[in-house]
Amino acid sequence: MKVASFGKILLSFLVLFSLIFSFQANSTEAAYTYQAKVNADVLNVRSQPGTAYSIKGKLLKSQVVTVLGQKNGWSRIVYKTTTGWVSSKFLTSVRWTGYVTATNLYLRSAPSGKILGTLSKATSLTVYGKDGSWYKVYVPSIRKYGWVHSSYVSSQKPVIVRTASYEKLVMKVNSNLRKGPGTNYAILSTEPAGTFVDKLAVKGDWIQVRKLNGTIGWLHASLVRDPASVLKGKVIVLDAGHGGYDSGTRGRSYLEKTLTLTSALELAPRLQKAGAKVIFTRKTDVYLSLAQRVNISNYYNSDAFISLHYNAYSPTSTGVMTFYYNGYKDAPLARSIQSSLVSSTKLRNMGARYGNYHVIRENRRPAALVELGFLSNPYEEKLVATSTYQQKAATGIYNGLFMYFLQR
Ligand SMILES: [Zn+2]
Repeated sequence: MKVASFGKILLSFLVLFSLIFSFQANSTEAAYTYQAKVNADVLNVRSQPGTAYSIKGKLLKSQVVTVLGQKNGWSRIVYKTTTGWVSSKFLTSVRWTGYVTATNLYLRSAPSGKILGTLSKATSLTVYGKDGSWYKVYVPSIRKYGWVHSSYVSSQKPVIVRTASYEKLVMKVNSNLRKGPGTNYAILSTEPAGTFVDKLAVKGDWIQVRKLNGTIGWLHASLVRDPASVLKGKVIVLDAGHGGYDSGTRGRSYLEKTLTLTSALELAPRLQKAGAKVIFTRKTDVYLSLAQRVNISNYYNSDAFISLHYNAYSPTSTGVMTFYYNGYKDAPLARSIQSSLVSSTKLRNMGARYGNYHVIRENRRPAALVELGFLSNPYEEKLVATSTYQQKAATGIYNGLFMYFLQR
């Protein structure tokens, strides 16, 4: 027992002594590799440390070499494929500033040595050199030299995130995602309007965001907004076309007036959930004149009036289209709805186009008339009557309204 404990004490003493000694030794003779710059116009690389030895090559001013070790005022270096010795006085060590990327990082006396202190995330370090996967550093904030594991040091300052749950934001317009908080930083990507991101941090007028795919970048704060504010309080009139004795067009099994009401009832809850005030021109199978429908829109001073219809032409006709009457007042709304409707339903894009229809012509408010497919085409009639299609159509119109109001 006695022998064992004495041995243990001796062993720990030797380990401690060797650690201290190796650290002391490091401060005079480099046991780590580091980068150094040539400060002479021409510097001879010799086979051994001394001017008597043969010249293996020459280095030029400002070339950066890796220093492997030192001996009597000479440095053993590697430059590309050349290894040899150069006079140490013609080399200047290259230091760089690194930052702690771990939440807590130990500062040690030597690689895997004893702990001198704990460094918090984003602490700045002067990096002198490397030994394996360890960096020899100076920590200005605590005025200490030591070693840290290189895996937790980056030349880029990490952003300290304050909360675990992130605020969602949406891009108002096509926006450049940049490497840092300013227009002087490189563009990582250009993201389309409507892209959703998580807000990670703020610096002045700039916001650090993360896309759903994990990409992180910076955006000017004026380019994004809270998605919950987009449809909030918007007055939207949903006009299910036809009704009562006016059946509209008919397919083999379905009447237009039934499908238009189904579509309006599918769309409304999505808008209401987003904070919009939805007004129906009809919620049941009743007849309304075209003038009555327009009056509802004008009376409520609606932000958007959407008239829903199904089309008829030939048995092979297919596709969706959206009509506007006024190129200024209505066309942006119609284009936005048409674009989202096509991407959601995948039906043929017949475009946003001019149409001289009473409900949009006489409307004082932004108005669009949407044709959601052809009942004259038996295949398309079957398709549009499915609940899957109705959901896709509702999502498409909802997205179109969201995109329309996003920039307003
Ligand atoms: Zn119709």
